[in-house]
Amino acid sequence: MVRHYELVEKIQSYNPGADEALLNRAYVYAMKAHHNQTRASGEAYITHPLEVASILSDYGLDDATIATALLHDVIEDTEATKAEIIYMFGDEIGKLVDGLTKLDKLNLVSKRAEQAENFRKLLVAISSDIRVLLVKLADRLHNMRTLDAMRPDKRKRIAQETLDIYAPLAGRMGIQDMKDELEQLAFRWLNTEAYETLIGKLADLRQRNQNIIEIIEGELKAKLGDFGIESRVYSREKKPYSIWCKMDNKQVSLEQLSDIYGFRVIVDDTTDCYQVLGAVHTTWPSVPGRFKDYISTPKFNSYQSLHTTIVGPGHQRVELQIRTAEMDEIANYGVAAHPLYKDGVTNGASAMDGAGLAPYQWLRKLVANLLEGDNPEEFLEHTKLELFQDQVFCFTPKGSLIAMPRGATPIDFAYAVHTNIGNSCVGAKINGRHMPLTSELKNGDEILIITAEAQTPPPAWEKIAVTGKARSAIRRASREAIQKQYCNLGRDILQSMFTNNGKVYSDRELTLALGRLSQRTLEDVLAQVGRGELPAAEVYSAVYPQEKTAAPYKRKAIKRSDDGWFSLRRVTNMRFRWPGKTPDEHEMNGSGVPIRGVSGDNIAIKFSPGGAVPGERIVGILVPGEGITIYPIHSPLLRDHFDHSDRWIDVTWDIDEASQERFPVQIRVTAVNEPGTLAHIATIIGEHDGNIDTLKMVGRREDYTRMLISLEVLDLKHLKDILSGLNGLAAVSSVERVIA
Ligand code: MN
Repeated sequence: MVRHYELVEKIQSYNPGADEALLNRAYVYAMKAHHNQTRASGEAYITHPLEVASILSDYGLDDATIATALLHDVIEDTEATKAEIIYMFGDEIGKLVDGLTKLDKLNLVSKRAEQAENFRKLLVAISSDIRVLLVKLADRLHNMRTLDAMRPDKRKRIAQETLDIYAPLAGRMGIQDMKDELEQLAFRWLNTEAYETLIGKLADLRQRNQNIIEIIEGELKAKLGDFGIESRVYSREKKPYSIWCKMDNKQVSLEQLSDIYGFRVIVDDTTDCYQVLGAVHTTWPSVPGRFKDYISTPKFNSYQSLHTTIVGPGHQRVELQIRTAEMDEIANYGVAAHPLYKDGVTNGASAMDGAGLAPYQWLRKLVANLLEGDNPEEFLEHTKLELFQDQVFCFTPKGSLIAMPRGATPIDFAYAVHTNIGNSCVGAKINGRHMPLTSELKNGDEILIITAEAQTPPPAWEKIAVTGKARSAIRRASREAIQKQYCNLGRDILQSMFTNNGKVYSDRELTLALGRLSQRTLEDVLAQVGRGELPAAEVYSAVYPQEKTAAPYKRKAIKRSDDGWFSLRRVTNMRFRWPGKTPDEHEMNGSGVPIRGVSGDNIAIKFSPGGAVPGERIVGILVPGEGITIYPIHSPLLRDHFDHSDRWIDVTWDIDEASQERFPVQIRVTAVNEPGTLAHIATIIGEHDGNIDTLKMVGRREDYTRMLISLEVLDLKHLKDILSGLNGLAAVSSVERVIA
């Protein structure tokens, strides 16, 4: 078992600047989080994250990846939360650990039709950070290494999954070492008999061929020396799994397989590679059709090498791979070899050109090929990944992918693209069609945001948006818009005040008086007057200090009656109150609604004709000179106000639960035209404790009657109870709420 201090030493050997404190913190945190957990083998759980970190340190990966490895199971398996990880270890590690947690939740059994979509999600996950996949692969590798502790049925399932998904993924990411080992381990548990037979036979062959390998190695070295080429020559034995695949494919026995041994020639530079090739081909006959030049045409995962097969010393067929040390590293480590993921070179774009491509382009290419590799069908088939179920991925018209939480709307999308796009958004086309901004986005949707200049997002959007980014931007913009409203209100108040005193109000004169008011800006004064914090008379006195008495500004007293009053609470602390005791009082039509500190004559509040009831989301629309009308958020009438976002006011219900306050709504009932029907309907409503206000027959045919009923209900649930009660009547064919 690897110890933490050994791990740190190993990391410091390739990265002297490693953040030891961070690694220690991650270790201690994981240790504490997993403290009473054990693995199937009975070992302490912490051995697992330590080993995973150790595997990744073999690839020389950065501190964040190692720390993520140490922490990779804490959210899934312990009390730890993402927020805590971010708090303790910062955003980068927090995101990586969270990514791992999501991968852990993969639902590997999914319907075929969904796979393309799922794959797209995988793709996004990768392009956001491929280190998540590196940790996942190391995690799987350690689990495979310790698979013998598992129950046999579990073993088979995990081994099959490894062979289907993780080994090909490692291969596509170019991490040959890991791919080989994953395959060997999976093969061992899936086909133990074949595995053991092969291992035995290979040991035999090795014994018998020991001489030949040494002879070939020796002759190669000597020959290349003659040509004056510095090189290292290794022999390598093919892995049991790939031999088994070949035997399976070609229907040949092990003895017939000529290329069990391969030789690798490592040289200093690319020119030497071709020189070695020339030397080898002039010395021994080459096998036709076996030459491949992956140096001039690298594989998508950046693999570069020359491949050839010759009939070498002792008439043995010899498979040769010729490459530089750098190519060798990429061949073994793949993605993990990329300098992007190594400490010390993560800063500065110039350092990232190590692999010959800009990192972004390189990553794009890899990701594109993960998707469209040699055999996408096959890979899709094997990648039954139900990834990131809580997210939705949509395209911009230019094809960029935007990831958002599920439930996101075009508003979220607009803000995800850019705050300015969000703030100036007035509409959206989804897949070429105009759609409401409240539409829930689906995976793969292409969104075109329609913008207009000088647009302010309605505060009500804050409730429609699901992303924090959109919400805070809307809040900010709303605050500014509301401030503007207060300014305008303040200016109105001052204008009428000044007029009452036979003066003409002007911004310029008030600006000159700012000093006497101890205020910084005109806007501050206007907004304070608008909010009622600064009496208009005080402003008047400041502008006309020589005038001793200003005609007092009439301000209505605030009624603070507790019974029979309810209020709407506005985000801005502005409180609206109005009496709601009797039906008449609901229809207030601008008749003196007191607002704290300001004359109620300025703003009146009323309900939209269709009413609104507690329990549903509401929006206030401020129409200058008319007041504020409260609409249910799904009211079609709101469409008329889409052009005036500055009039949207965020209001919420603020009603005591015990309140018996009633609210007017309208319902439309279509019922069979027969004696007693009306009585039944009235009875049902009465039984449900609903008050009928008015009842109108609006359409009468031979068989059916349609009626509009104005009701008073306590809240949305009460209304729904009445509607379902009416629906239960045999005579009623349809019943619906009229929202206007
Ligand atoms: Mn794990």
